[in-house]
Amino acid sequence: MRIILLGPPGSGKGTQSTYISKCFNITHLSTGDILRSEVNSSTDLGIIAKKYMDKGDLIPDDLMIKAIKNQIVHLSSGFLLDGFPRTLAQAKSLDLLLEQIKNPLDKVICLNVSKEEILNRLSFRAICNDCSHNYNLATTPPRVKNICDMCGGKILIRSDDNPEAIINRLRIYDNLTLPVIDYYESTTKCFSVKAFGKPEDVFKTIENLLRL
Ligand code: ADP
Ligand code: ZN
Repeated sequence: MRIILLGPPGSGKGTQSTYISKCFNITHLSTGDILRSEVNSSTDLGIIAKKYMDKGDLIPDDLMIKAIKNQIVHLSSGFLLDGFPRTLAQAKSLDLLLEQIKNPLDKVICLNVSKEEILNRLSFRAICNDCSHNYNLATTPPRVKNICDMCGGKILIRSDDNPEAIINRLRIYDNLTLPVIDYYESTTKCFSVKAFGKPEDVFKTIENLLRL
């Protein structure tokens, strides 16, 4: 199965991806996670990417396409793309690649959340460095400050979860990623899902769509 998960920052793409990849046994490719790991290892790509990511800007299309292409061609049994494509140029180059390897997309799922909810989620978001569990410091803080309830790991705030970068990420989403949704919406493979309420309930809806 080849799936794309689209949605604004804070719509729960990471959380839903974890459920989907476990349930359907497919590889989860998160461009955000791939780039953050490149940044942590100070690779050439990571050093360049950090400058863009900290401000909430997208890294240039050519770099991103090159980084993800290598991974996709090796996943003949399927994948779940989370955070890619984010621009029309990325979507078109993905189409071309999938056509070349004769592996068309099965479904595109778009998560929908209100701006107010996104701002609340991102402004108070903190993430465990070890198990990636998400906390909202205003509504669901950890029992012990900075320590993960699940695994005892250290809880961190992403460097792009600050007010300026959040506003920039939302603006970029509207300007560059909404056209990608329009692009897929003209196909029969695209499904829109309301992404508020309990994560498990959102997943139930996604699971039903993927089993159609
Ligand atoms: P979010 O959806 O919360 O903004 P991600 O973890 O998906 O965060 O991405 C974090 C950052 O990584 C983005 O703000 C951007 O700088 C970079 N990035 C991720 N995916 C892409 C992409 N497809 N094209 C360009 N930059 C990307
Ligand atoms: Zn943890």
